[in-house]
Amino acid sequence: MVTAMPNVQGKVAEFLSKPRKMLINGKWVDSASGKTFPTYDPSTGEVLAQVAEGDRADIDQAVKAARAAFDTGPWSRLTASERGRMIWKLGDLLEQHLQEFAELETLDNGKPLKVARAADVPLAVDLFRYMAGWATKIEGNTIPISVPYTPGAKYLAYTLREPVGVVGQIIPWNFPLLMAAWKLGPALATGCTVVIKPAEQTPLSCLLLGELVQQAGIPDGVVNIVPGYGETAGAALAAHPEVDKIAFTGSTEVGRLILQAAAGNLKKVSLELGGKSPNVVFGDVDIDSAVAGSASAIFFNHGQCCCAGSRLYVENDIFDKVVEGVSARAEKIRVGPGMEKTTDMGPLVSEEQLNRVCGYLESGFSEGAKAVVGGKRQGDKGYFVKPTVLVNTHDNMKVVQEEIFGPVVTAIPFKNTDDLVAKANNSVYGLAAGVWTRDIQKAHRIASQLRAGTVWINCYNIFDAALPFGGYKQSGWGREMGHDVLELYTEVKAVCAAL
Ligand code: NAP
Ligand code: MG
Repeated sequence: MVTAMPNVQGKVAEFLSKPRKMLINGKWVDSASGKTFPTYDPSTGEVLAQVAEGDRADIDQAVKAARAAFDTGPWSRLTASERGRMIWKLGDLLEQHLQEFAELETLDNGKPLKVARAADVPLAVDLFRYMAGWATKIEGNTIPISVPYTPGAKYLAYTLREPVGVVGQIIPWNFPLLMAAWKLGPALATGCTVVIKPAEQTPLSCLLLGELVQQAGIPDGVVNIVPGYGETAGAALAAHPEVDKIAFTGSTEVGRLILQAAAGNLKKVSLELGGKSPNVVFGDVDIDSAVAGSASAIFFNHGQCCCAGSRLYVENDIFDKVVEGVSARAEKIRVGPGMEKTTDMGPLVSEEQLNRVCGYLESGFSEGAKAVVGGKRQGDKGYFVKPTVLVNTHDNMKVVQEEIFGPVVTAIPFKNTDDLVAKANNSVYGLAAGVWTRDIQKAHRIASQLRAGTVWINCYNIFDAALPFGGYKQSGWGREMGHDVLELYTEVKAVCAAL
């Protein structure tokens, strides 16, 4: 494969023109092995850039740097206000470089440039600003205690909320920059230090973010970035005995491997894993807005969202209308290279994902599913898949049970609320759900009955740095964003003093 010549200039062209190094202890270095790996432009399948390939030795160096920065470095002596201002500055710098980050994200991941500009980068900026504010608000409590066996004794008891220490962060390719922000923001706010491993498919925006981390004045060794493969660099990080906590976003399958690796030193673990989220449309809705919302619930980011509304449940009497409406919208989606202005949906991230999604389509068809629209790859160059609506599916099919992670929705009718709740909760996952109805009592009742970490009512894919996000069941452990995330990055120390 030849190196791509993407249509970019300036900083991004320069960034892509030479092999990218890894960030360890404030220095941009080659891998210990000297090896690099290619990252591809998924709209062409051509090599976009070469990246230093981190492995166990590099992870070890990075963890040492993070350990030293945490245990003895200037980071631990900074005030919370100073930390907060650095995180805020990181957000400002990112905003100033919005176009570069959006272009890099589009080239590496495939998503439309307009989406990267409107969603990925601004949401990351906002996350840093939100977390900057928390740095000065992480507090313990004073606690009245009533010790019965020491009559007359008085105690002062209080809690301290302290940083958990060195955090290993392993992130996926679907929102490369935003996932880096979700992980780095709370770690920095709480005073932790970090070794982060971006996904092999999309390492570039995280590496560029590393330059801004330095410009923001965050001391050397606080943020270390080691690109590389999951089975090598990722596994070494998850198993490292000097890492106090691992934060992972990705597949449920790898989530289990992370848990096993973490068992060695019993490091803390938080997991944001897969989903197969139900999106429920009741018969009383305004059909146009429910159709628009349901289409975007699955097709946003090409369905490569852990919370994608991939199981569409529609009340019997409006089933045909909603399926027709969502299919008509799917047909209008302009699929093409992310850098083109007219593109609404780009390619899937990799050939592996293309094969995986097409494999699911085949499996669905062999079990009797029918595609109202889409159902196949588009073209033979790049990793494009046509937005797809499947009907004739039933609850036990693989396409209904397993996470496809592509632009494929299964539409299934339901009779009544009981039928619906049983169907919607019939999943090993529990990440998110959508409910569309004009009946507010029904909406809130269903929201309470769904086993999911997020329920959107008459909307979908609404994210905010202040809203906790995470999963029930096999969708994960812990909540990211909001003030809940601070618990994942802090230890509570109880202090008790006899007066
Ligand atoms: P994945 O393997 O779970 O990748 C996520 C991250 O984990 C990547 O950084 C990956 O590194 C790393 N990793 C892989 N194996 C590891 C190991 N043994 N130890 C430590 N880290 C490891 O996901 P994928 O293979 O890219 O995608 C497969 C499926 O996962 C998708 O189809 C989708 O169903 C699901 N997924 C979910 C999310 C989500 O947001 N919840 C995101 C992405 C994918 P490398 O990329 O370098 O191998
Ligand atoms: Mg790539």
